[in-house]
Amino acid sequence: MRQSTLFAQTYREAPAEADAISHRLLLRAGFVRSLAAGIYAFLPLGQRVLRKAENIVREEMDRTGAQELLMPAMQPAELWEQSGRLGAYGPELIRLKDRHERDFVLGPTHEEVVTALFRDEVGSYRKLPVTLYQIQTKFRDERRPRFGLLRGREFVMKDAYSFDEDWEGLDRSYRAMYEAYRRIFDRCGLTYRAVEADAGSIGGEGGTHEFMALADIGEDTIVSCASCDYAANLEKAEAAAPIAHDLAADIPEPQRFATPNIRTIDELVSALGLPASRFAKTMIYVADDQPVAVVVRGDREVNELKVKNALGAETIGIADADTVLRVTGAPSGFAGPVGLSVPVLVDLEAAVEDGWIVGANQADYHVRNVVPGRDYRPACVGDYRIAAEGDGCPRCGAGGLRFSRGIEVGHVFKLGTKYSESLNATFADRDGNEKTAIMGCYGIGVSRLLSAIAEQHHDGDGLAWPMSVAPFRAHIVPVSANDAVQMALAERLYGEIRAAGIDALIDDRDERPGVKFKDADLIGIPIRIVVGKQAAEGLVEFKHRSRTDQETVNAGDVCDKVK
Ligand code: ATP
Ligand code: MG
Ligand code: MG
Ligand code: MG
Repeated sequence: MRQSTLFAQTYREAPAEADAISHRLLLRAGFVRSLAAGIYAFLPLGQRVLRKAENIVREEMDRTGAQELLMPAMQPAELWEQSGRLGAYGPELIRLKDRHERDFVLGPTHEEVVTALFRDEVGSYRKLPVTLYQIQTKFRDERRPRFGLLRGREFVMKDAYSFDEDWEGLDRSYRAMYEAYRRIFDRCGLTYRAVEADAGSIGGEGGTHEFMALADIGEDTIVSCASCDYAANLEKAEAAAPIAHDLAADIPEPQRFATPNIRTIDELVSALGLPASRFAKTMIYVADDQPVAVVVRGDREVNELKVKNALGAETIGIADADTVLRVTGAPSGFAGPVGLSVPVLVDLEAAVEDGWIVGANQADYHVRNVVPGRDYRPACVGDYRIAAEGDGCPRCGAGGLRFSRGIEVGHVFKLGTKYSESLNATFADRDGNEKTAIMGCYGIGVSRLLSAIAEQHHDGDGLAWPMSVAPFRAHIVPVSANDAVQMALAERLYGEIRAAGIDALIDDRDERPGVKFKDADLIGIPIRIVVGKQAAEGLVEFKHRSRTDQETVNAGDVCDKVK
């Protein structure tokens, strides 16, 4: 491709709202443009990277025998009613009506659709096992779209679904996906960890792992052991942590406190006299022996509280500190200054009105049971667990736990029969008995991958793409567009490289050398061929983007070196 015609401008500065290094670089280098919060256009450079990432994913999915299909983004709401998720999914689900007033949703994920397809297509065990996948645009009206492609409201996902006769079959399908994920992330040049995860809002009965690209900007905390291979996300690690306190003994009476002047978690933490470090806790409140309130956990670094339902089963909302304080507000908010804990009684009705707590359980059950002004007591004994850095490892008992940050780039999940049961996806087994299919689901954030890779592969001058996903393999930069000898040699190399089937970008613009080199560094194509003064002697400079050294090579050898 010719840079003179490339549909993208580079910028020296990123717009002020760009909130992550990968976001700033992708904008500055002309890979993506923002249309609205969390909604992006992929310009030609970005689209090329996206396509390369997609193809890596596609090749590795195909290698496992999974079959590619494409499902509609627009889905009838009835399907979501049948699975029970229409209410449960909450405001992240984009709902719309067609001209006949029929209800639809824009798919944030496709368990419902794929299970309905399976139900209508597969009747016999002879067609099992089967794994189906697609690479497709997903919609989630995220509460806090941010960090560019890392948390979009419209984004590209690879989602796969396996159907098996029994749990042993699911184990095999799951393992195949797990291994495929490793190959995918290896090929993308990512430094990552597969961590044990907690079953989130998707529900399910089996195991689950998240693949975390290591990066400080990551919104997830990875807990790993210094001496064995234990690695889990924070929720999972906390569930395995030893019980730290007997709550009943610690907080006989909740202390009420007023919050009008507290606006941030920092202020809350200091008002309570807590150590200014991460705090988290698990707590269930009861009134009249009914669990009515919620589990609250806080993370000072990201200044947000996660709220789970009383059964601790799912995350039903994430609120920033301001919202939590507004919703909990004095005098209904109270806290017990115990260790690192900050139990907060949430006024569920207000929280629901505010639209930040969602969930079927809460909608069907909690809310009805909450009476404003009633005296709710903390009554969760022995369920107070905090995983902290330096704790003993729950697997090997030795070694201290370490915390680090990660970006969830992939997620594999044993679903069991949650969807096949509610949507009636059955098949006849070899004895002719009707059986419910055992499912797994497997997601990769393909567009998120671009940002995760950019977070890990850049330097002070710009992006430095791994070869496997680079928009072009080689960048040919004639130093002076007015020098006929340089231009002729550059054009010759461009032709040779392309004839060898290699994608290349040639900077044929009439720009100062400084501008060309700055742009080349910013865009980050792995191999650079600079055609300068020595062109007359048939010599060019050959350089890798992420290395400082360069070598002078014969123009005749360039094509072979690029291969
Ligand atoms: P997160 O915890 O980051 O919100 P999730 O657990 O909700 O992600 P899944 O439902 O597991 O996401 O979806 C599968 C994959 O899709 C995720 O592992 C992630 O890589 C990607 N993904 C999820 N939400 C987004 C988003 N808003 N923008 C970009 N990619 C996303
Ligand atoms: Mg999410
Ligand atoms: Mg997640
Ligand atoms: Mg997930």
